[in-house]
Amino acid sequence: MANVLVIAELFEGKVRKGSLSAITFAQQAAPMVGGGYDILVAGTGAKAAAASMTGYGAESVLVADLPDYVAEVYAPVVAGAGKGYKIVCATATTFGKDLMPQVAEHLKAGMASDVVKVVQEGGPTYVRPMYAGNVLAHVKVKTPIQVVTVRQTEFEAAAPGGGASPVKDAPAAPATAAAARVKVAGFEKVVSARPELTDARVIVSGGRGLKSGENFKIIEALADLLHGAVGATRAAVDAGFAPNDLQVGQTGKIVAPQLYIAVGLSGALQHLAGMKGSKVIVAINKDPEAPIFSVADYGLVADLFQAVPALTEQIKKVL
Ligand SMILES: Cc1cc2nc3c(=O)[nH]c(=O)nc-3n(C[C@H](O)[C@H](O)[C@H](O)COP(=O)(O)OP(=O)(O)OC[C@H]3O[C@@H](n4cnc5c(N)ncnc54)[C@H](O)[C@@H]3O)c2cc1C
Repeated sequence: MANVLVIAELFEGKVRKGSLSAITFAQQAAPMVGGGYDILVAGTGAKAAAASMTGYGAESVLVADLPDYVAEVYAPVVAGAGKGYKIVCATATTFGKDLMPQVAEHLKAGMASDVVKVVQEGGPTYVRPMYAGNVLAHVKVKTPIQVVTVRQTEFEAAAPGGGASPVKDAPAAPATAAAARVKVAGFEKVVSARPELTDARVIVSGGRGLKSGENFKIIEALADLLHGAVGATRAAVDAGFAPNDLQVGQTGKIVAPQLYIAVGLSGALQHLAGMKGSKVIVAINKDPEAPIFSVADYGLVADLFQAVPALTEQIKKVL
């Protein structure tokens, strides 16, 4: 019997790769609550997308075809499907962070968010960072249903293991007053040839040291050469140098690429909270005392306006 329900996130009719981390979490948590897991595919084009989820070891794949995403419409459907499970989980993407607190409210369930580990201590105990990652809290949720979001960088993407889970319709949810009050006016799609920050193998991030949005071109050239994504600090975003969706950190995106190149950023705690899990960190900063050097594998004390173009030219020669 399935005791864990994984919420898969859809984008343009496909399940996002990030959802595979929630499946890995479910594989670890399900034995702790004595059972297996189901996957709920909810969104526009869910029926077609459900087929891509049948090889991940779920007892069933549930489908709810829904209009464009707003939490007020999705939360009652997800909560309706989640009744009877012990854990309802999703990855802590922007979607998961927005949706799951409302799901918890509908289920009158306690919630553990941004979980990095689950351990068996007479039932699941959730480990989650607090105070910008300086403390790891061990959390027990005492309600009959537990709502959880998991940090994508801490749970490997699940690999399809064969098998064929049956596909079923999710139970219909009653219309709510909140859902009737909201409507999607439209979407503005960000078109970029660069990879998504959370999927990128290489990220080049810039901070206030870049001094202007125009100067971000310096790090964009390096990122493009390495087929990477561009990131930014909150200070750079607040100053208008880079758009909000590029922010890395406690209140931005959590990333763990193979290579993170930090340019002209100091390495404030809240920034480190979003990138210190990166495999290799390179820092370029003119201040030898900058805290970013304390987490860097390679550090270059230099003026970025000379060092980054020179580095880009050298890499061009060897590629
Ligand atoms: C609740 C809360 C949440 C936050 N969330 C986030 C978050 O998610 N992400 C985030 O990034 N921040 C976050 N912050 C802000 C954070 O505390 C810092 O203010 C911010 O990260 C600093 O950005 P920065 O490193 O670009 O700027 P600064 O700290 O001003 O650093 C600029 C760096 O550039 C270097 N520099 C300047 N000129 C050059 C040059 N020519 N060559 C080389 N180096 C140069 C300087 O030596 C300096 O180290 C948050 C803060 C709070 C309170």
